[in-house]
Amino acid sequence: MESLSLVNRVAEVRERIDVALHRSGRADAARIVAVTKTYPAALVRDARDAGLPDVGENRVAEMQGKVEEVGRDAVRWHLIGHLQRNKARRAIPLFDLLHSLDSVRLARQLSDDATSLETEVRALVQVNTSGEESKFGFDPGHAIDAIGEMAEMPGLRLVGLMTMAPYTADEAVLRRTFRGASRLREEAARQVPGFQAVELSMGMSNDFEIAVEEGSTLVRLGTVLFGEREL
Ligand SMILES: *Cc1c(COP(=O)(O)O)cnc(C)c1O
Repeated sequence: MESLSLVNRVAEVRERIDVALHRSGRADAARIVAVTKTYPAALVRDARDAGLPDVGENRVAEMQGKVEEVGRDAVRWHLIGHLQRNKARRAIPLFDLLHSLDSVRLARQLSDDATSLETEVRALVQVNTSGEESKFGFDPGHAIDAIGEMAEMPGLRLVGLMTMAPYTADEAVLRRTFRGASRLREEAARQVPGFQAVELSMGMSNDFEIAVEEGSTLVRLGTVLFGEREL
């Protein structure tokens, strides 16, 4: 992709985020996580050069290849896809933030691996506020107890929540999904010592303005920046 057009697209998306922030009366900001999955490693450099220092990947092997090619410190790496427990140890050194902490068993694995690697994992707890069976993440009714349990684990720092909305244009459904995560974040902040309610990762190309209106601090954007993926 020609880099001038990427710069222009980033400016347009930032403008749309700013408008959504104003519309909802928010004084804080929302950052873009540029989702580069399925694209070659060179796009990670292009994204960084276009002013996007946060990059999201959904598979460990693909992220590892790109980290090796582009450099671990070239950008902030976000792992946004489901992480299998047997890949936790390999993944930990690669990412700055895990968006998809979706089970207590995965938390225990990350805690053990982080402890033995003498590091700390920063993670967002994925909550399933859309109610779709097919989605990963904690059921809202059990999330607070689970967050309480995970917040005690050594080597694991919980810094917010993540949710994924259904693929729909129905604004009411999207808003309800995002608002559910926003409320859970507030509840966890009140009830769970050790939970840091810093981030709220929600919003993708087709719904990010609504997510920002509902409090998103990290929007995960692929298509709107880079075009349709082939895979
Ligand atoms: C692919 C992906 C995105 C980006 O999707 P777009 O619709 O292309 O913006 C965001 N979040 C997750 C978890 C993804 O897997």
